[in-house]
Amino acid sequence: LNRRLAEFGTTVFAEMSALAASTGAINLGQGFPDTDGPEEIREAAVRALRDGRGNQYPPGPGIPELRRAVAAHQLRRYGLSYDPDTEVLVTAGATEAIAAALLALVEPGDEVIALEPYYDSYAACIAMAGGTRVPVTLRPHVEGEEAAFRLDLDELRAAVTGRTRLLLINTPHNPTGTVLTREELAAIAELAVERDLLVVTDEVYEHLVFDDAEHIPLATFPGMRERTVTIGSAGKTFSFTGWKVGWVTASPGLVTAVRSAKQFLTYVSSGPFQYAVAEALALPESYFTAFREDMRARREVLAAGLAEAGFKVFRPAGTYFITTDIRPLGETDGHAFCRSLPERAGVVAIPNAVFYDHRAEGAPFVRFAFCKQPAVLQEAAERLKALA
Ligand code: PMP
Ligand code: GLN
Repeated sequence: LNRRLAEFGTTVFAEMSALAASTGAINLGQGFPDTDGPEEIREAAVRALRDGRGNQYPPGPGIPELRRAVAAHQLRRYGLSYDPDTEVLVTAGATEAIAAALLALVEPGDEVIALEPYYDSYAACIAMAGGTRVPVTLRPHVEGEEAAFRLDLDELRAAVTGRTRLLLINTPHNPTGTVLTREELAAIAELAVERDLLVVTDEVYEHLVFDDAEHIPLATFPGMRERTVTIGSAGKTFSFTGWKVGWVTASPGLVTAVRSAKQFLTYVSSGPFQYAVAEALALPESYFTAFREDMRARREVLAAGLAEAGFKVFRPAGTYFITTDIRPLGETDGHAFCRSLPERAGVVAIPNAVFYDHRAEGAPFVRFAFCKQPAVLQEAAERLKALA
């Protein structure tokens, strides 16, 4: 393994899912739903396979039907107008979109600012691109009766140097569940414009926002559409994480750049699934509302169970993850805690520390996924009581 990748080893998701498999523990680690997405969308994939649509290399930028559906979705939801022919690119999940964007836009030695804790592929892709990651840490703040991880805008501003090329933003944010507010996003946008930075924004959880939180794409802020690469994915929104269909929306120059990298990573991907996802994006609003409502109810089940078991719970405004603080349980090392959790309680979770450069800051935080059936979450909650 070369020096760029040597520090990364095996992803924590593989490690923890293997632990779940070998111990029979309930897997609330890796974020994937235990119920597949809509039947009619699965049928659409079967139809495409049977009709011979997408069984051979689809077009490099993605099939026109899906590019049009992505553009229509951005317009309908956010008033963002993208040309399906020049401003949309289909990728092998958001993971490839992240990799291709960073490989295309970062020069060796460039600094990339990422919100810490950061999704693990960000660090690896910045490294593969030869860039230097500069983490800006989200920290817990008390807000009324709740606590949430928030961005310190002064720290973000101070992190920008003459070598900063790009801001890598994620909202709703994995693993904290933070949804950046309009004010925070406006400040990020102002900074990007003032310092002439590119922005890559990972918005894969755009449909998973709860209560009065609102997802506002960064590209909607003044001066941002031209400098922002927005990333979406069918995995999260339609509960098909195995299909690996994602997309990028950006100005023609940025899409061309990302595509230049993408063509040598996978060239193209997922022919028949692209047809199915095009249909999924056109589902009526009731699908998205019901999905969100369903996940909100599951959040309540798991949050209550975790609180009862003695964790401090950061109730997420978005995503399907709950970050907890394990210190009330008398624990301080999240990684050790997660390694022993299957044996102690028959549950698997993810130590947030792996998403930090400042490991000590992340040490007491542990993430649980709630994209599981309510009965499974109830059973996990029951088992976790053993910790008290
Ligand atoms: N970004 C974030 C923040 C994620 O949580 C995930 C996956 N869980 C991805 C990107 C990758 O998405 P995909 O499965 O579409 O590659
Ligand atoms: N994104 C999912 C998570 O955060 C898992 C993705 C993966 O396995 N790489 O849990």
